[in-house]
Amino acid sequence: MTLSIAGKTALVTGGARGIGAGIAGTLAKAGASVMIGDIGVGNDGDESWRYQLADAADLERTLAQGDNIRATALDVTNADACAAAVRETLDAFGSLDILINNAGVVDSGPVEHFDEDAWDRIFAVNSKGLFLMTRAALPALREGTNPCIVNTASIAGKKGYPNMSAYCGSKFAAIGITQSLAAELAPENIRVNAICPGMVGTAMWLDHLLPSNATSTEQREEEFTAAMQTTIPLGRPQTAEDMGDAVLYLVSAPNVSGVSLAVAGGFEMN
Ligand code: NAD
Repeated sequence: MTLSIAGKTALVTGGARGIGAGIAGTLAKAGASVMIGDIGVGNDGDESWRYQLADAADLERTLAQGDNIRATALDVTNADACAAAVRETLDAFGSLDILINNAGVVDSGPVEHFDEDAWDRIFAVNSKGLFLMTRAALPALREGTNPCIVNTASIAGKKGYPNMSAYCGSKFAAIGITQSLAAELAPENIRVNAICPGMVGTAMWLDHLLPSNATSTEQREEEFTAAMQTTIPLGRPQTAEDMGDAVLYLVSAPNVSGVSLAVAGGFEMN
């Protein structure tokens, strides 16, 4: 048996672009109403991070995926903002059945020179954000239909990589939070799972992780794809749509909880 998505309501954090936009589009096409909560909504050209976060053009492309997608400003590190995003979702659609904790940031570098504020922000968004958003959403989820939560963790939450201690630490935490909440909320029939994306050519890779002197996005995308041909066993990067499909499975599967599903072309098998 699979659970129908039609008529349900989802809140997708970090959904203005990238993987979150892929998840929002997939859920909307499956018949859900989707509220995107993103720091980039109404905050065009935010320069406060290592690379630019979502902007108005990103959001416009994402909203164009369906009539049943809306957006609200949200910083997942702020408890009041998390509560407000839940209220906005209930006001717009009348219920909240699916919470997708997807917002995330990355920075990398040798631990010896790693910036303390960057370390704190990575954990604030990637780990504490799951707590703040889940706590804010739970009362509404309890009133929802077959409620569930999917967190976007990472293959970096299953294995450590050099120069990635902050990001990997925050994603190991995301998997631990997923498992703990799955156990805690199972008696209420609230399922909690995670996806662990492999390598998706979003801003995280194209604007930060990929070593490149390329001057255009197209060139960087080509370099990324070429690099992934030799890195990933299946010989290709993953897509935001792959992540949407994985989320759709987890949201639809009534007896799956506590899983952290790698979608990584065979790069991570645990
Ligand atoms: P992205 O930068 O394109 O998307 C991240 C989104 O989160 C942006 O829209 C950004 O504006 C938003 N955001 C950042 N800080 C926020 C905050 N405090 N509150 C609300 N929104 C915030 O990158 P992406 O690759 O799409 O990342 C999405 C998720 O996938 C992240 O959790 C990331 O860690 C994870 N992930 C990505 C990859 C990959 O290869 N791209 C691999 C594994 C995991």
